[in-house]
Amino acid sequence: MSLQDITARMKAEEARTGRPTDTTKLIAVSKVQPDERVRAVLEEGHRIFGENKVQEAQGKWPAFKEEFEGVELHLLGPLQTNKTKQAMELFDVIHSLDRMKLANKLAALSAELGHCPDLFIQINTGEEEQKAGILPSEADQLIADCRALKLPVIGLMCIPPAEEEPSLHFALLAKIAKRNRLDGLSMGMSGDFETAIAQGATHIRVGSAIFGERDYG
Ligand SMILES: *Cc1c(COP(=O)(O)O)cnc(C)c1O
Repeated sequence: MSLQDITARMKAEEARTGRPTDTTKLIAVSKVQPDERVRAVLEEGHRIFGENKVQEAQGKWPAFKEEFEGVELHLLGPLQTNKTKQAMELFDVIHSLDRMKLANKLAALSAELGHCPDLFIQINTGEEEQKAGILPSEADQLIADCRALKLPVIGLMCIPPAEEEPSLHFALLAKIAKRNRLDGLSMGMSGDFETAIAQGATHIRVGSAIFGERDYG
């Protein structure tokens, strides 16, 4: 796989499902990948990247941002409240807003910093205990409360349970977004991004299919 293979498959799926070309954003998930692989994708001209951890991103992205113009960085992993300010300073978009404590912190810091990243609210569509995200039954309230704080919520994000059919989760996410009049849908990874595009994904998050397997050793 490569960046070009993925963008070709994206275009094919957009065409097959009657969506305008290039309306899906590809977030290249560079967590844990060695710098030379990330650099290669930057040199191919890609500029939209995703990371899971604030600290890891702080270690590699300030230098890349200086070297390559127009980088857009997305935070995909859970965000601890005490790292909110650092996250807001580095990331353009945060996909893991899932609780009021974090919403209040983002709102307070927005006033102080004078800007706020675009936000996705993460929904725990599989209601998995170990997974981040708000429960589907509590999503409408959280969305309303975040809007009341004037936070720039642009959509919803989910990570389906590994062993389940992802399309059921993508459909649930799309349904919650629609009834709340939200346009953004952050869903689909290396194994299921075509399914996600068919179900209306606006942002897909693809790691290993672009960069190769992650080596956690
Ligand atoms: C790691 C990760 C991805 C990318 O996963 P791949 O299977 O490597 O494409 C996407 N989204 C989130 C939230 C992740 O943590």
